[in-house]
Amino acid sequence: MIPYGRQSVSEKDIQAVVDVLRSDFLTQGPRVPAFERAVAAHVGAKHAVAVNSATSALHLACLVLGLGAGDALWTSPNSFVASSNCGLYCGARVDFVDIDPRTYNMCPRDLRRKLETARSAGRLPKIVVPVHFSGQSCDMDAIGELAREFGFRVIEDASHAIGGSWRGSPVGSCAHSDIAVFSFHPVKIITSGEGGMIVTNDAALASRAIELRSHGVTRDPDRMVRPGGGAWRYEQIGLGFNYRMTEMQAALGLSQLEELVRFVVARHALAARYDVALSGLPLVLPWRHPDSYSALHLYVVQIEDHAPIGRMELFERLREEGIGVNVHYIPIHTQPYYSALGFEVGDFPLAERYYSRAISLPLYADMSEADQDHVISVLIEALRR
Ligand SMILES: *Cc1c(COP(=O)(O)O)cnc(C)c1O
Repeated sequence: MIPYGRQSVSEKDIQAVVDVLRSDFLTQGPRVPAFERAVAAHVGAKHAVAVNSATSALHLACLVLGLGAGDALWTSPNSFVASSNCGLYCGARVDFVDIDPRTYNMCPRDLRRKLETARSAGRLPKIVVPVHFSGQSCDMDAIGELAREFGFRVIEDASHAIGGSWRGSPVGSCAHSDIAVFSFHPVKIITSGEGGMIVTNDAALASRAIELRSHGVTRDPDRMVRPGGGAWRYEQIGLGFNYRMTEMQAALGLSQLEELVRFVVARHALAARYDVALSGLPLVLPWRHPDSYSALHLYVVQIEDHAPIGRMELFERLREEGIGVNVHYIPIHTQPYYSALGFEVGDFPLAERYYSRAISLPLYADMSEADQDHVISVLIEALRR
């Protein structure tokens, strides 16, 4: 089966992990801070905090920004459930902003309308989480402006987008946000097995995240309530977790980061081949925002209404041909857990309409042109009238 996404792991990556296994530290050693420094430098952020997943990163990002009961977090319905679950972990209310039908990202005009309504009702969100769907940045200038005007904080869910940029600034530079988070799950752009990263330009947010990823414990005398005593002294000053990344993960991530630019360039070359080969078919191809350089985590097509077969049939046909297509995403608000919170089908019609027609085609840095040609020929065969 040709998967929709997969990791590219080299002998150099394998050696980096093996080296850790022969070293003194499997956790809390030198590789995690080295990976943090490398990611911060690569994306142009002042601070980076590595954790065991992007889900943990989102949770900590919400906590360090003070999200709690009585607050609200808004995100995009066209995302993985982790983008909104982080708000629920903190006891906050969650709501969604419908998507722009061209980018499939949170629509800034819709966000403004919803903020104006919320302001009248005295229910403005504390945090908005724009998701850079498929690796293409949201309009961060517009979202940053709204954040200043309406007084909310911004966490970029950049799980798809490391290696991308918005108006020349790397995603993760946090020029228009408080925090950005990355995922290093194997289907994402670079991997550490499981893993995630918080990046921010705010030193206080970073140090709180470092405490919370490790039980809420500090050894920094300046942060202690009762400093002094023996050198063994640590203090728990918050309620934290064990969200730490291991040294094996960090070594893999660090080695992968060296290939990031090449991986994204390879994704662009494959996407350009899809663009040309699929252009005559009844498919809506991905639209590239001229201000965004996408990391191209996903290549999503929508099946036109006048196509000879529907999404379900096309999906099954591709799977029968050994092509591991997928669908991103089932709108979060239609999940049973969210229905139970009061959301209904019809609440975010553009995300729902997009979802009903979407298929993610295989795309990953090491995909062979022969495999891609197989995907293309099955699509042409299925969609020819
Ligand atoms: C993958 C993903 C996550 C969660 O990442 P993990 O590292 O698997 O926890 C969150 N948000 C989005 C948009 C994702 O694609």
